Amino acid sequence: MSAPRGGSSEPAGAWEAVIGLEIHVQLRTDRKLFCADSTRFGDAPNANVCPVCLGLPGALPVLNREAVELAVRAALAFGCEIHETSIFARKNYFYPDLPKGYQISQLERPLATGGQFTVDGRDGKAGAAVRIRRIHMEEDAGKSLHDRFPRATAVDLNRTGTPLIELVSEPDLRSPEDTRAYLQQVKQVLEYLDVSDCNMEEGSLRVDANVSVRPVGSEELGTKTEVKNMNSFSGVERAIRCELVRQQELLSRGGRVEHMTLLWDEVRGEVRPMRTKEESHDYRYFPDPDLPPLVLLPAMVERIRSELPELPANRRARFREEYGLPAYDSEVLTSSRALADYFEEVVGGVDDAKQASNWVMGPVMATLKERAWAPEEYPVPPPTLARVIQLVQGGTVSTSVGRDLLKKVIETGRSPDEIVEGEGLAQVRDEGQLEGWVDEILAAHPDEVSRFKGGEAKLQGYFMGLIMKASRGKADPGEVVRLLAAKLRR
Ligand SMILES: [Zn+2]
Repeated sequence: MSAPRGGSSEPAGAWEAVIGLEIHVQLRTDRKLFCADSTRFGDAPNANVCPVCLGLPGALPVLNREAVELAVRAALAFGCEIHETSIFARKNYFYPDLPKGYQISQLERPLATGGQFTVDGRDGKAGAAVRIRRIHMEEDAGKSLHDRFPRATAVDLNRTGTPLIELVSEPDLRSPEDTRAYLQQVKQVLEYLDVSDCNMEEGSLRVDANVSVRPVGSEELGTKTEVKNMNSFSGVERAIRCELVRQQELLSRGGRVEHMTLLWDEVRGEVRPMRTKEESHDYRYFPDPDLPPLVLLPAMVERIRSELPELPANRRARFREEYGLPAYDSEVLTSSRALADYFEEVVGGVDDAKQASNWVMGPVMATLKERAWAPEEYPVPPPTLARVIQLVQGGTVSTSVGRDLLKKVIETGRSPDEIVEGEGLAQVRDEGQLEGWVDEILAAHPDEVSRFKGGEAKLQGYFMGLIMKASRGKADPGEVVRLLAAKLRR
């Protein structure tokens, strides 16, 4: 049985997937949510703890203002209504990595509700429309380390109290592919907003999925399961597909889906139930008596709104309209804010946006990949790349020499003009010099010349290659083609 894909092409009797995501995002602050401990990743275990995050008697939490501002920024970007008053509540449960015995979160009165996010589909078309139920703030728990010591579990509390937002969607997603696209684009928005580093490997972005199936055409929701422990985009897609197949098979055999929590096993590619003891919580939420209600001044919310950057979807649309770029180019160039900024600075220095796009998507991105650089680490300033493009467009150097030139700029730090001048790279258009190369090659290959004259037209490319080589890439290809045609016609 194949996984449901949604859409109108489903055969009768097929199942429809119903998927919602809960995304936990670590906010990019130096300090924890309620104390001054560092949130740095990778410090020695239990180096960053204090009486507040350990929950020692008498310690009182103080809310981190920066974290609130970041949470508001995210909520505004997803079109949520920001509530003037929200309440921090204690979520009570026992776990070794939770020394307080409760986690501070928000339940009945969250920071924000009622948002909306439209996934950008392929070719600039609108994809899935996903309602955002709520965005609330909470602190993270610590970490149990099961692989540190043999037959023992270690606890690292550095993460305890790290500020998070939880972004909860309505179950509006209909396929594993759409879910992956949604998650990728949500991550992109969060990165553009600079509210989180979104590093999935370090746990800065964690995802749980609520998954159910129902017969196509049905409006009722089936019993859902919760899938946890997905650590990558592909993991999310595979885990959900796997769980959908399991539910469909169960229902098709006349069985019933039971509400439970499942863990995704990346290595074995399967979901398995979490022990019920671990999931049967009654959290007994109540407002945290140590924290007053969080009251946001409208002026502060408006200031944050006015400071929102242009979001990826808007930027993609603008790249298509303002620069006339294909949807694919717009998508690639806006994949990170730094890359999009870079492109826009390059385009300011050349008159052909598509050329600028080709150079950024071609040689620039190839170098980023080769050197494992982030776009912000690319050492060629935009005006310098613009100058290389101008030299190619103006015919001073060929495209391939232009590409080499860019590499030499990185290696030597010299300007493109200096390198062209110093190494004599300028394209040769002098008729006499070009003719010299052409005659040399034709004279050295009499057999090929007669075969060409006998009708083997494809040999022209062969001659071109040899002539370009003889000129060390400096011959103007257009002129060579013209000369070659003139000489071989005789
Ligand atoms: Zn602390």
